[in-house]
Amino acid sequence: MLGKTLNEFKQSAEAKYQTLKEQLDTQPEKAASKDDLTLPGEGFQLGSRHPLSLVRNEIIDIFKRLGFVVAEGPEIEDDWHNFSALNFPQEHPARDMQDTFFISKKSPNASEANSLSPGEGRGEAIKGNEAGDIALRTHTSSVQVRMMESGKPPFRAIMPGRVYRNEAISARAHCFFHQVEGLYVDENVSFADLKQTLYHFVQELYGEGTKVRFRPSYFPFTEPSAEMDVSCSICKGAGCQMCKYTGWVEILGCGMVDPNVLKNCGIDSEKYTGFAFGMGIERIANLKYQIRDLRLFSENDVRFLKQFQTEIN
Ligand SMILES: [Zn+2]
Repeated sequence: MLGKTLNEFKQSAEAKYQTLKEQLDTQPEKAASKDDLTLPGEGFQLGSRHPLSLVRNEIIDIFKRLGFVVAEGPEIEDDWHNFSALNFPQEHPARDMQDTFFISKKSPNASEANSLSPGEGRGEAIKGNEAGDIALRTHTSSVQVRMMESGKPPFRAIMPGRVYRNEAISARAHCFFHQVEGLYVDENVSFADLKQTLYHFVQELYGEGTKVRFRPSYFPFTEPSAEMDVSCSICKGAGCQMCKYTGWVEILGCGMVDPNVLKNCGIDSEKYTGFAFGMGIERIANLKYQIRDLRLFSENDVRFLKQFQTEIN
């Protein structure tokens, strides 16, 4: 069947070739191209990558060179993977409807939707306890839980992805943003490994000589926890508008994985230790490109996006 079709195709191509060849022999002026082939070609309009993709790819490349693999997971998560396994206490404010988009488990039903009074239903935040335990993930730490639950140490991975928070949209906050989190779990992983890994990361990202400082902090899923600042890449520490004249910019949160989290994921916390970190891609991009309004990233304004045309990779 295929042979027959191919044969027909071959015959038709040969016939076409013969016709053109005869035409070229008998009427060369008709067969010749009317276009001047020596003229330069018309410009080819090349698209550009989104600045967040550029920064995400750069971060991924740096960690890949350190042996980290990329892990991904669902954007719609349950309470266990987003909160409970990560040691969030039941009363933690992040579980509140103010911070998290909960999803109703009820299937949409026409008669029910019609019976809603004005102001109910779509557009209204659903209270956590009414919605059950399904939510749009608030961080990509849920991917760490899934990875640890389904595998065996050592783990060395980064988790890029979109996350959601129930925030009013402004120049400094949005209802969604992008994160890259990282996890390294093995025997004898220490805070020194965490510092050295992140120090190397910022040398690669912002250039040699970038300074780092760690400030003690608190996260439910790490102990001890820290926020990491880097010396401002714009003013080199002298003080500018971007760093609010402090010379430092906060870029990520990090810490040693809380033994409770390891236990929750079925990992022997006596044998294994680990570190984790997380950063917002928007924040890194703001600093890199000096962008002062978060909303620009999701408005699809071609005038904004075109500025990244030369950075295609
Ligand atoms: Zn500065």
